Amino acid sequence: MPSSCPACLSDQKTSLIGTERMYGWGEQFEYFECKDCKSLWIAEIPEDLGRYYPQDYYAFEEVREDSVFKKFFKRLRYQLFKKGWIQKGPEYFDWIKNLELQEEDRIADIGCGAGVALHQLAYSGFKNLQGFDPYIRQETRRPGLSISKKSLEQLEGTFDVVMLHHSFEHLPDPNIALKQLVRLLNRGGKLLIRLPVTDGLVWQTEREFWFQLDAPRHLFIPSLRGMEILGNRHGLQLEKVVFDSTASQFWGTELYKRNGNFITFDLSRNCSTQDLKSFEKKAKILNDMNKGDQAGFYFKL
Ligand SMILES: [Zn+2]
Repeated sequence: MPSSCPACLSDQKTSLIGTERMYGWGEQFEYFECKDCKSLWIAEIPEDLGRYYPQDYYAFEEVREDSVFKKFFKRLRYQLFKKGWIQKGPEYFDWIKNLELQEEDRIADIGCGAGVALHQLAYSGFKNLQGFDPYIRQETRRPGLSISKKSLEQLEGTFDVVMLHHSFEHLPDPNIALKQLVRLLNRGGKLLIRLPVTDGLVWQTEREFWFQLDAPRHLFIPSLRGMEILGNRHGLQLEKVVFDSTASQFWGTELYKRNGNFITFDLSRNCSTQDLKSFEKKAKILNDMNKGDQAGFYFKL
């Protein structure tokens, strides 16, 4: 990783330690925090980074195919949403709306894991979906949807929409990654990057215990300002930012403060429905104040 900030290029930084907590392995990694734009990045990428994505890593869990009935229901729900008859649907309806997605659009999901989001879009009626992830076990091919074991630099062709749902922060160099992402966009194409951000109140108050610091898997975590500067450098217009943090910023951070790990943690046994509801309420308040711990950045080329 570069010694100056990958986002604003400032060389003014402070150093901090992040600990591997998801698996509870306890190894420590140095991170830098930019004094200017407040973005975070790992000082040195571990040579054996693949070891931190074992086969039980959550994103690789196989997608369970929905029943015919459920698929029919999801298709219907999307048709009603499109007509404006229902306002609130599942989370991905928000991206569909903000990206103004059309069912024929060529859509790529980079770092898609097993492809949960793409399957949901396929059930809704989207017809041109491609997912890529270098770490998946098996590829998927079906009409309208393919998932290939490929990394960003191996991709060819262009898309109307490129999305990264919590994968950008895992890529080794944000500037190289953005250059490659821009190459994949059609003129006027849209890029959605959803990732943790350092604007979150939880990061500012709990620091190293923050659930989404996730050392050493998260290599770069920008601030809102850092992400906008980064996008502009690569010719992208930031059209919209939507904070979409969830209850996990609270229960996950609390878990790490108690020295627990995520892998053996049973949320339903340790967190009452009432606690979860109040965490979700708190997350919504923070999101409205741009103080949640993650956001979606909607860029246009
Ligand atoms: Zn910076």
